[in-house]
Amino acid sequence: MAKYKLEYLWLDGYTPVANIRGKTKIVDFDSFPTLEQIPVWSFDGSSTQQAEGSSSDCTLKPVAVYQDSGRTGNSAIVMCEVCLTNGNPHPSNTRAGIPDDPGAWFGFEQEYFLYQDGRPLGWPETGFPDPQGKYYTGVGYENVGDIARTIVDEHLDLCLAADINHEGINAEVAKGQWEFQIFGKGSANAADQMWVARYLLLRCAEKYGVDVEWHCKPFTGDWNGSGMHCNFSTDKIREEGGEDYFKSLMEAFENNIDAHIAAYGPDNHMRLTGLHETQSIDKFSWGVADRGASVRVLQSFVDNGYKGYLEDRRPNSEGDPYAIAGRILQTVNEVG
Ligand code: ADP
Ligand code: MN
Ligand code: MN
Ligand code: MN
Repeated sequence: MAKYKLEYLWLDGYTPVANIRGKTKIVDFDSFPTLEQIPVWSFDGSSTQQAEGSSSDCTLKPVAVYQDSGRTGNSAIVMCEVCLTNGNPHPSNTRAGIPDDPGAWFGFEQEYFLYQDGRPLGWPETGFPDPQGKYYTGVGYENVGDIARTIVDEHLDLCLAADINHEGINAEVAKGQWEFQIFGKGSANAADQMWVARYLLLRCAEKYGVDVEWHCKPFTGDWNGSGMHCNFSTDKIREEGGEDYFKSLMEAFENNIDAHIAAYGPDNHMRLTGLHETQSIDKFSWGVADRGASVRVLQSFVDNGYKGYLEDRRPNSEGDPYAIAGRILQTVNEVG
């Protein structure tokens, strides 16, 4: 038997955006625990906007477990759903509402800003850095600053050690802005990984005195906002496809524009303006290779008989990947 540090993670009840919370439980195991071996736990929901003080217990139901290489000794991260004491999902539990589909695959492209002292990392104390242009995939101190690359690389290593499908990094269009991509198979899998990857990024940046700014438009001006493009496919979209099916899918997306925007993160009107590679928030469009469309269709998708995956470009950097995946599957399922 050895002692393991289990970091239980969950989403709190704050709106419009939940925060990640975590606390550590020490448990004895013979070897790295499977999900089934990890005990249910609880927390004080009155401190997370999830309960009244008089009856404050909420239940943490483990849903996924990951290696934690950023901590000494035997350590694991346990992603949890929040449940009521009777076992039913808590109203804040967006994961529980995702339609189940093992054939659903999601790829999220998370953009964000690194922040220090109230401004994007590498920005001058007053005024603005040079206009954007050379920062995207940029190299050199002048373009990326000094510690950003240390942080994003350390984050990458933490994700890989946790078996998270981190797929890559790029410096983004605005100075101090970065992206990483996460892919997963199954309705909630990529979203679970994304929440854990967000946690690891926050935790890794702490020791550099750096915060992560997830807001989709943290400052105004001629600067790109942050999105979280959602690439998605199902068995039918990948294997059957066809132009007619694709067009009915897009029609369903258009008919559900408000429900999608509601699930795609707060303040998206600040980002979806029709500028900076976006479609405006009240319009729905799709286009082949069109970065100004709501849904971008790859040329290879069309060439393969409208088969493959689609990219919804509207979800923003602060969106809840559970809510995003859930909404997309709901609309896809409406088409049948
Ligand atoms: P871009 O910046 O050009 O939009 P990225 O390479 O950043 O492209 O992101 C593409 C995303 O699409 C990746 O997260 C990838 O995992 C995802 N993806 C690739 N194939 C599929 C698929 N069949 N179903 C769902 N997502 C996919
Ligand atoms: Mn990308
Ligand atoms: Mn990007
Ligand atoms: Mn994209």
